[in-house]
Formats: sequence, C-alpha cells, structure tokens
Amino acid sequence: MGNAQVDGNECTHVDVLIAGAGISGIGSAYHLQQQSPDKSYLILDMKDSFGGTWETHKYPGVRSDSDLYTFGYRFKPWVGAPIASADEILKYMGEVIDENGIDEHIRYGHKIVRCSWASDANAWTVEATRTSDGARLTYTCNFLWMCQGYYDHEKPYVPDWPGMDNYKGQFIHAQLWDPGIDYTGKRVLVIGSGATAATVIPAFAEKAEHVTMLQRSPTYFYCAENQNELADRLREVGIDEPTVHRCVRAQINHDHWVIQQRCLTEPDVVFEELKDMVRQYVGEEFEFEPHFIPKYRPWQQRLAFCPEGDVFKAAAEGKLSVYTDTLETFTEKGVRTASGDEIEADIVVACTGFNLSVMGGIPFEVDGKAVDWHDTVTYRGMMFTGVPNLVWVFGYFRASWTLRVDMLGDLVCKLLNHMDSLGAKRVEVALREEDKDMPILPWIEEENFNPNYLMRDIDKLPQRGNKPEWRHNQDYWSERDEIPATDLDGPEFLYDGERTKKALKTA
Ligand SMILES: Cc1cc2nc3c(=O)[nH]c(=O)nc-3n(C[C@H](O)[C@H](O)[C@H](O)COP(=O)(O)OP(=O)(O)OC[C@H]3O[C@@H](n4cnc5c(N)ncnc54)[C@H](O)[C@@H]3O)c2cc1C
Repeated sequence: MGNAQVDGNECTHVDVLIAGAGISGIGSAYHLQQQSPDKSYLILDMKDSFGGTWETHKYPGVRSDSDLYTFGYRFKPWVGAPIASADEILKYMGEVIDENGIDEHIRYGHKIVRCSWASDANAWTVEATRTSDGARLTYTCNFLWMCQGYYDHEKPYVPDWPGMDNYKGQFIHAQLWDPGIDYTGKRVLVIGSGATAATVIPAFAEKAEHVTMLQRSPTYFYCAENQNELADRLREVGIDEPTVHRCVRAQINHDHWVIQQRCLTEPDVVFEELKDMVRQYVGEEFEFEPHFIPKYRPWQQRLAFCPEGDVFKAAAEGKLSVYTDTLETFTEKGVRTASGDEIEADIVVACTGFNLSVMGGIPFEVDGKAVDWHDTVTYRGMMFTGVPNLVWVFGYFRASWTLRVDMLGDLVCKLLNHMDSLGAKRVEVALREEDKDMPILPWIEEENFNPNYLMRDIDKLPQRGNKPEWRHNQDYWSERDEIPATDLDGPEFLYDGERTKKALKTA
C-alpha cells in the first residue's frame, strides 16, 4: 500500500483492489496472498461486516442450498453437516479471515461509487463513500478484482402487483426480513417457490397458525438427509479432515455431473427418482399433481434442496397449502388469484428473487468514456473487451459458486504474475481475427439455464460469443480442465496493447 496523487490530492494506492467481502472477495484475497504475495491489496465493502449474501439474508431458517464441501473453499476443510446455516457459513468465513490475516486489508462501510481507468497512468481510480460519515475517499489501483456479486443487496425484486396499498397486514420481501418479526400463531402467505421459499416454509410452519405458498409455477425439489455418508465413513476410520474434504468434494462434483447429464438425457427418469425421494418422507400416497409438477426440465433452473423432505412434510401434515396460480391483486386481507381464490394472511412474505446488479451498479469509465457492459464481449465471464485490468468473479449457479472463486483465483494470480514477468502494466482481452464472424449473443444461453432475474435484465449484461473462451457456460465440469490450461500468451490477450512474442510467433 502506498500513496498516489489524483487531481493534486493524496490518496491510497494498492496493486490490487478487491470489491466486496463476500465469499468471492475473501477467497480471492486468500489466493492473492498465497500466489502473488508481493502484491499490496485492499478489500472495500459497503457493509459493516464480511459475508455478503450470508450477512444480508436474515429470514427464518436461512441456509445454503449447496453442500459446504463444494461451497466451502478448496483450501479450508468443511467439518460440519453438508447444508449449513448462514451463521455457520459466516463462522467458517471468519476463520478464513483470522487464520490468514485478511482482516487488516478490509475496509468495511466503504461503498464504491465510481471507477475510472486512465490509460496514461495504467491505473484505476476508485471512489468510495464512507458510510459512517459520508466522506468521499479516493483509491487508486493497478488491477480491479470485482467480487461484488450479481444482485442488488439493498433493493430486492418485488413485482408491481395491483392493490398493494390496500393490504392491511404486514408485507415484506425475504431479503429484507427483520428477525424481530413475530409470526407465532399467524397466517403466513409465501409468494414464490424457489430455494428461498423452500427454506422459509418449514421454518414458518413450526410456529405459524398456517402457511400458504402461492407459486406461479412449480419447482423441482431434491429431498435427502443433511449428511454425507462418505464423509461420515472416512471420519469413522480416522482419515484427516483435509483428505475428507478433498474426497467428498470429488464425490459430490462427480455425482452432480452424473445427475446433470441424466437431466438432459433422461429427465423423466430423474423426475421419477426425485418423486421417490419425496415419498420416503411422506409416504406413497403423496399427490404431486398439480403443485409439484414443474413445466421445465430438471436443472434448467436450480434444484431446490429440501432437507428431510421438510416442505413436503409440512404439506402432508396440513400445515402448508399450495396454490399454483397468478396473483391478480392484493386485497385488504390478503390476495386474490386470477382464478378468483381469496387467500387471507396476516403476513405476506415475497420470495420473488433479486434485482440483477451488473458490477454493483457502479458507473465505470475507460479514458473518460462511460462503459456500457452490454457493448462488451466477455472472456469466460471474467474479463471484458475494452476494459483493461479488471476481472469479475461470477460463479456457478448449478454447481457451487465458490468452485469458480478458487479456479479464477488461480487464473488471476497467474495472470498478474505473467504481467510481471513480461513487465506489462496493462492486460485486456480482444477478439481475434478468427473471431470476426463469430455471432455475438446474449450472456445467458436461455435453453440451457434461464432464471427470471437474469432474463429480465439480459440487456444490462455483457454479451458473449459461441466459443468456449468467449462465454461463461456455467459448466464447472468442462471449465475445471479448460481454465487451468489457459494459455496466457494466447492471441486473445493483449499486454500493453500488444500480443506477446509467443502469440505472434504461433499466429
Ligand atoms: C439466500 C441465498 C442463498 C444462496 N445459496 C447458495 C448456495 O447454497 N450455493 C451457491 O452456490 N450459491 C448460493 N447463492 C448464490 C450466492 O449469492 C453466491 O453463491 C455467493 O454467496 C455470492 O458471493 P459473492 O461474494 O460473489 O457475492 P455477494 O455474496 O453478493 O457479496 C458481494 C459483496 O460485495 C459488496 N458490494 C456490492 N456492491 C458494492 C459496492 N458498490 N461497494 C462496496 N461493496 C459492494 C456487498 O456488500 C457484499 O458484501 C445463494 C444466494 C442467496 C441470495
């Protein structure tokens, strides 16, 4: 860390600035310390603590949907049950921060409000507002490592439903849940059917008078015990935790790959198996029609994990009623659906998802020109044409997000070290001659994966090509071979505006 001058004023300079202290930012800091130990760095986060997603969400029962053997980092063994509460995830992240001295690099309560790249200085100027007193602070850095997530932490997505002002009960979005809300003995209506709804419903069902779920369309659920047999067995025979972690990660990644393939080749068989998993908890007679028969293929959206079939148990025990319908309007006492059903509720909890936020909604400029991310083409969902010295850590949706944090951590450090060995101050990606006729397409491959919050704002996201290096294919199983094999001398990388000698020689 040092000082720099911006417009005649002194400001802090670091080699690398990491935006966000969520699971991506903390993991990236760890890799930077390990693999590029000479780089000075800072992490800025607008919150008052670390954790990102796991700090924001406080609704009843908040927990991971993925197992922590793969959602945890490669380098820090997970020793608990596979599915973890937000508190357990925060404790794990806290240990990573303490064990590696990351805390001294984090500046909490610092909201980044503007980033500008200047080619003459080969540096980013990052302006931040300190939330405690509103002071405007300026940092400069050579490299920006964007770990600010993908959704707006302050404003969740609430559809513009008619009649909301008429409703006399309490309305809240799950993302803004206040743990002080008492739902004991109340009638709770949950709108939505994704992973968040699947988490809150069993928690509400314990104390509420009754829970109703109103969904537009059904979701696939994966019901199982919250345990991993391989982990239990390896521990029983005395295997050390780092080895347990490594083996269980490998097993889970393998099993996920198999199930993903089967969802493509035999979706109906997979669905029958998913139904059998439900039946182990609620019996053979459970009626799936119409509320638990999704319209899409399994895995086209995330499969919602349901520990010990808890959502289905709540339905089978009469604590949960389900409507598959469209919300037509709010009324004084609840909502009315398009089919004319009235659902009365004391509390309405919207589990309607996120508002996408590309690069944290921060305005970016390159040499005085505003960056429109939609005008850029992405290199593997991590770098963007025309935007130098910047990466965005965008993880996986169908595998654990963090698998990609570790892989990109390796690649970014390799890139930073490669720049040093070349003496280069600037790196960017550029389409090659062979890419000139490549179709430029929307970020998301709708056929492959199509969550609503991405589809709603597809025009805010960068674009992609149809070659592996110019898309984020959401496929951990191909990228785990491709990303470590990246040739940083490939012609798609420009260093100080030039291809490397090696790239020119092979061209
Ligand atoms: C309830 C919930 C459950 C989930 N469960 C899973 C799961 O089980 N498995 C899985 O793989 N994925 C899951 N996800 C997806 C999840 O968001 C990611 O896996 C992961 O936590 C994202 O981490 P991140 O660090 O990239 O971003 P975030 O967790 O979003 O953290 C970003 C951080 O950046 C900060 N930030 C943003 N903008 C600025 C700014 N302008 N200035 C300063 N700081 C800024 C934020 O304050 C935040 O701390 C879940 C998401 C939610 C909402």
